[in-house]
Amino acid sequence: MTHRPLPDPTPLTEGFWAAAGNHELVAQRCANCDVLRHYPRPLCPSCASTEWHWHRLGGHGTVYTYTVTHRAFHPAWADQVPYAVVTVDLDEGVRMVGQLHGADPARVQIGARVEVRFEEYGGPDGRSMTLPGFQLCPDPAPTPVRSSVQPTPARQSKE
Ligand SMILES: [Zn+2]
Repeated sequence: MTHRPLPDPTPLTEGFWAAAGNHELVAQRCANCDVLRHYPRPLCPSCASTEWHWHRLGGHGTVYTYTVTHRAFHPAWADQVPYAVVTVDLDEGVRMVGQLHGADPARVQIGARVEVRFEEYGGPDGRSMTLPGFQLCPDPAPTPVRSSVQPTPARQSKE
């Protein structure tokens, strides 16, 4: 377990972190108009309702953008550089930021398919938390080559 500074859950975010502890990725869903939102906010950006619940996400998405960190800004990250942080458009329509795990950062591309990956970290204060990040999806199976190509019927010429 890697020790590093950890988020401090608030009444608004504690459900997100608790779900991550169960390896579930969630976002807020408005109880009035069903719009999903992330990061957690008290008001719906669409209808201003204060009523919401946690909605479980599938954890798959596409890299919208990314950055590669080459110099650790804190000693806890010294053994991880270089690493990529990705901004992901999740399939449900919300955008989330997380560290990319398990891949050479040089392999990351805008548009790459990723899936959530949960990692547990210990903090200097003795507590531990599970944080969502992402990993590249395996390359899709190659499209099978068609064994027979149907010839296009020849056009009848009028004479
Ligand atoms: Zn709403």
